Amino acid sequence: MVDSLSGGFHTRRPSPHEAIAVTDTPIRHDWTRDEVLALFDLPFNELVYRAHTVHRAHHDPNAVQVSTLLSIKTGGCPEDCAYCPQAARYDTGVQAQKLMDVDDVLARAKAAKAAGASRFCMGAAWRGPKDRDIPKVAAIVRAVKDLGLETCATLGLLGDGHAQQLKDAGLDYYNHNIDTAPEFYGEIIHTREYQDRLDTLEQVRDAGLKTCCGGIVGMGETRAQRAGLLQALANLPAHPESVPINQLVAVPGTPLANQEKLDPFEFVRAIAVARILMPRSVVRLSAGRQQMDDAVQALCFFAGAGSIFYGEKLLTTGNPDVEHDQALFRRLDLRAMEVVEQPGTVHADILESEAAGCGHGCGCSAAA
Ligand code: SF4
Repeated sequence: MVDSLSGGFHTRRPSPHEAIAVTDTPIRHDWTRDEVLALFDLPFNELVYRAHTVHRAHHDPNAVQVSTLLSIKTGGCPEDCAYCPQAARYDTGVQAQKLMDVDDVLARAKAAKAAGASRFCMGAAWRGPKDRDIPKVAAIVRAVKDLGLETCATLGLLGDGHAQQLKDAGLDYYNHNIDTAPEFYGEIIHTREYQDRLDTLEQVRDAGLKTCCGGIVGMGETRAQRAGLLQALANLPAHPESVPINQLVAVPGTPLANQEKLDPFEFVRAIAVARILMPRSVVRLSAGRQQMDDAVQALCFFAGAGSIFYGEKLLTTGNPDVEHDQALFRRLDLRAMEVVEQPGTVHADILESEAAGCGHGCGCSAAA
């Protein structure tokens, strides 16, 4: 058995007896709301046990994929997502910045790779990119891809041909969240329709990009509406390869600034239910993680979270948050995974590395 520190995260090659058992859990797209709600309503231990059983049947329970998120175009967004500090209409203190240059993004991507990230996610606070923005983003994607990182972008609603152009530039994943249950959506966003999001997701799938799609919990929705979010995700034509589950970060200046915090165990339930509904997807513990204590994060990993996000501000050398994450991985004997290119596969391409070394964190459909 080899122990090493890859990019600061604890990595360890599993021994043969730790091989992942893969079972034939049926992939369903016909979940009813009552079925999903019944999972939420299970006794906590029963739910987490079931979720962990599904998790270890399809994934290595001791490995976590690490993604880093960089905002490549910040603030000034014309949309009105009630949770988002980047909406121009809310006074949140976010300074609008134009699209970053390729070289600046590249420097951040190199730092992310050195810190142990295997995927680099780039978010732009747009309603959606204009045609003239796509070549600029494509150049950025191409440069990041050339570093050997997986690439993900979250740019908002895509126009005709955008997804294909990004795919051609080397984009692996496109993030576009559905945010919440269809019936609660109108309480949160008024400037784009639920169907708009589904249309962009269709473009992403049609272009052959992997889909990163999840939502946000803790925005004042009911448990039935949380079930509705996960039901909607599971009933998409294809399960997203990556499912970010965000906990609301209540930012002063946004309409949800005073939203009561969700019970942490309810958040764990959401992770567990997502795990059961979409067995082969990688469930990502996303925004809100920095506000969670280590025990809750450990429960999330046990319940099926197999990926984490950490943002650009965490890339600074010696940043205590990065060190804290690395220490948590060591305490839990988790190792960071590296994704190895095997086009056409879903998650079978996630292998452990023994080599040395959106959205926006805001939940943007443009997030994670
Ligand atoms: S979540 Fe995305 S689309 Fe919504 S306001 Fe924020 S940046 Fe704009």
